[in-house]
Amino acid sequence: MTSKNILLIFKSNIMYKPVIYRLARDFELVFNILEAKILPRKEGRILLELRGSKDVIAEGIRFLEQNRVVVEPLSDKVWREEEKCVNCGACTGLCPTDALSIKRPEMTVLFDVEKCVACGMCGVVCPFGAMRDITLFDPFAEDRSNN
Ligand code: SF4
Ligand code: SF4
Repeated sequence: MTSKNILLIFKSNIMYKPVIYRLARDFELVFNILEAKILPRKEGRILLELRGSKDVIAEGIRFLEQNRVVVEPLSDKVWREEEKCVNCGACTGLCPTDALSIKRPEMTVLFDVEKCVACGMCGVVCPFGAMRDITLFDPFAEDRSNN
């Protein structure tokens, strides 16, 4: 038994599909909703902890993606806000575990959450605030600042 934290982003056209219920029913995964918000006719965001075997969690995530849910993996503590990352590479030199690395020749920055030890160095160096401490993470801050 292992656990994995993920962020689910639902666009409005799929928001009311019972996909999380099916994670429990079809895959027998245990889930814990850490935070959730639904914006009517816009999108929903749910921070979810999944528990089960590694393979079944992977199957459950595939099922979500097949149902057009955007799934972003989170380490226990650190999360990359993909929309803010410009792939500048500044964080890769400081990451002690190579959790952040440059993919060549595309020159995009990969984040391998399995390697992350939550040292926090990337959060200090990222000029765009893309690397976030999940314990301080507010997935809906942007929505509030737009209101
Ligand atoms: S928190 Fe530390 S280990 Fe994790 S990605 Fe950032 S620099 Fe790498
Ligand atoms: S420093 Fe920030 S913007 Fe640059 S690659 Fe790393 S996470 Fe992305």
